[in-house]
Amino acid sequence: MNNQKPNIRDATVSDLENFVKTANQPSFRKSQIDQWLWQKNIDSFAQMTNLPSELRTQLQQHFELRNIQIHQYQISADKTIKFAFKLPDRHLIESVLIPTENRVTVCISSQVGCSLDCRFCATAKMKRIRNLYWWEIYQQVQFLQSKSFHYFQTPVTNVVFMGMGEPLMNFNNVISSLGLMTSTDGLNMSPGRFTVSTSGIPKLICRLADENTGVNLAVSLHSANQDIRKEIMPFSEKFPLVQLLDSLVYWYRKTNVKITFEYLVLKNVNDTMEDIYQLVDFCKKVPCKVNFIEYNPIEGDRFQEADWNIVEQYQKILLKHNIHSTIRRSRGGDIDAACGQLANKMGVTL
Ligand code: SAH
Repeated sequence: MNNQKPNIRDATVSDLENFVKTANQPSFRKSQIDQWLWQKNIDSFAQMTNLPSELRTQLQQHFELRNIQIHQYQISADKTIKFAFKLPDRHLIESVLIPTENRVTVCISSQVGCSLDCRFCATAKMKRIRNLYWWEIYQQVQFLQSKSFHYFQTPVTNVVFMGMGEPLMNFNNVISSLGLMTSTDGLNMSPGRFTVSTSGIPKLICRLADENTGVNLAVSLHSANQDIRKEIMPFSEKFPLVQLLDSLVYWYRKTNVKITFEYLVLKNVNDTMEDIYQLVDFCKKVPCKVNFIEYNPIEGDRFQEADWNIVEQYQKILLKHNIHSTIRRSRGGDIDAACGQLANKMGVTL
């Protein structure tokens, strides 16, 4: 039998309004509680010091206050910091704080593990354990905001859903977390500072477009050739490139936000002239830019990064066709914090 009290973070607006009413308290108490929950890092009701003590006791009687907790962290030589968070059910997820010259980017997880099977990704090897609740996604940014002030004396400027998991496969929780992160009741960050990165699930890309969130979209394309893409991202057999493209055209029509294609250039996999011309053709069909990602080796993996002069050549060819591209240098590789390496190697000490 489960007689656990509900987590207050799961309470709906009306749950809390009713709670405050039943406790015979004025309605502003609800926003005081919300401020404690979403704008301050607390781990007990006793810390809600501007509430009358009987209300704090009543909260305690009715609810649990469950948080994610920093379990471990590691600092890279390049100042990137990887955090392992322990969830209330003891699963671990990882998030990364990445300082650059004029930004601090947070890379967050949306699932414990991942249900997709990208051959080059460490998280895929864990399989999917569960979706994160929306507040577990929210709290990663809330915590790392205070860490950003602590280590870099500046707030987080950008948030990317490029940690563990496929964000669109945890659609509702991702949308709810974005809702509060962009609200004045939460972190008050502008939607344009968020990037949802997807491996490319057409139906869900359309759904995200319909939500009108104002966030950016990155698509892990990695090849514009159906057969090669299927080889390195087997799940994509179910979502052919033509369907993906239709969803991206729909996205742009709805949102007017350019798409970023992520492209990992792998030796003898997707690094020929034919590959680049297929990419050019694909890119011409929808307003976009390309982000070449440095490959981060995964244990037991057969892939190798392509020669850098090939990537530079790729950039020139894209530019000739007016397609802008950037190269994303890997960060935090020495602590396994780089893209695709998040798989809880920090060791579990439960
Ligand atoms: N599931 C989402 C978000 C998580 S992965 C997605 O697929 O977009 C974030 C990015 O890291 C993706 O572009 C992914 O393809 C890339 N990636 C995965 N493994 C990698 C590796 N070993 N080296 C570099 N990038 C990798």
